[in-house]
Amino acid sequence: MQTFPRTFWGAHFRLDQDVSALFPYLNAIFPGARFYDRPECVEFILEGFKCMLYPDEVIAAAFTGEDQALQFAQSLVDFLNDLKGKKEALTPDFKKFKPVSVIDIYKILPQTNCRECGFSACLAFAAALSKREATPDQCPGLRQPMSQYALYPVINRKGDLVSTLSLEIDPPQPPPANREAAAQTGLSDRELQVLRLLAAGSTNMEISEILCISPHTVKSHVVHILNKLGVNDRTEAAVWAVRHQLA
Ligand code: SF4
Repeated sequence: MQTFPRTFWGAHFRLDQDVSALFPYLNAIFPGARFYDRPECVEFILEGFKCMLYPDEVIAAAFTGEDQALQFAQSLVDFLNDLKGKKEALTPDFKKFKPVSVIDIYKILPQTNCRECGFSACLAFAAALSKREATPDQCPGLRQPMSQYALYPVINRKGDLVSTLSLEIDPPQPPPANREAAAQTGLSDRELQVLRLLAAGSTNMEISEILCISPHTVKSHVVHILNKLGVNDRTEAAVWAVRHQLA
C-alpha cells in the first residue's frame, strides 16, 4: 500500500485479485455510484470515504492519518469479501455512467447567443459548463430546472419537449488552498483541466473530445503533468489530484 507521509489525504491500495466482477453489484447497491467504462472502474462512497475501485487497485480519500487509511483498507476488503458471498441474492446494475457531452448541454440552451452568461456564444458556454469552468445559473435558460434533481427540458425547433437532461455540475473553481498547491507545481490552467478529467477516469480520447483539442495535444499535456508532479503514471497523478482535492 502506498500512503502519503505529509497529509495522509489519499491512499492507493493494490488488491491481490481482480474484483471487477463485483462492479455491477457495487453500482447497484451504492446510491450515486458511477460505473465507468474506460478504464473500467466504479466510484462510490464507503464509510464516508470516496473510493475509485479499479480491477486490482483502489484510490481512496481523504484520511487523517495512515492508521485510518489502513483501517479503511481492511474494512474495504471485508466489505468486498462479504459482497462476494451475497451477490447471488443481489440484482447487478450494468448501466455505465455517461458524462453529459457539450452537444447535449447545447441542446438545452436557449441558443440565442445573447452573451448574458459572459461567453461569446451558447456553444462556448456549453463547452465551459462541461469543463466545469461555468455554472448552470450563468445562463437564464438554465436557472429553472424542471425538478429539484436539476432535470432540464430538451426542446426541439417546434417548441416540443423531446427529452430531458440531468445536469449535475460541481462548482467550477477549487478552493484557494488547492489552487495554491496546484500553482506550486507550475501546472497551467489547461494542464489542471486535463488532470481533473484524467483523475475522473477519462481516457485521452475522451479528454480530447471534451476539451476540443487533439489527442496528440492531450498526450503532450499528460506528459507535462507527470513531469511537473514528479509521478510515474496516470494513477499516481490521479492520486495527487484526489489528495489535493482537485478531482
Ligand atoms: S446566456 Fe444562455 S442563451 Fe445567452 S449566450 Fe449564454 S448560454 Fe447562450
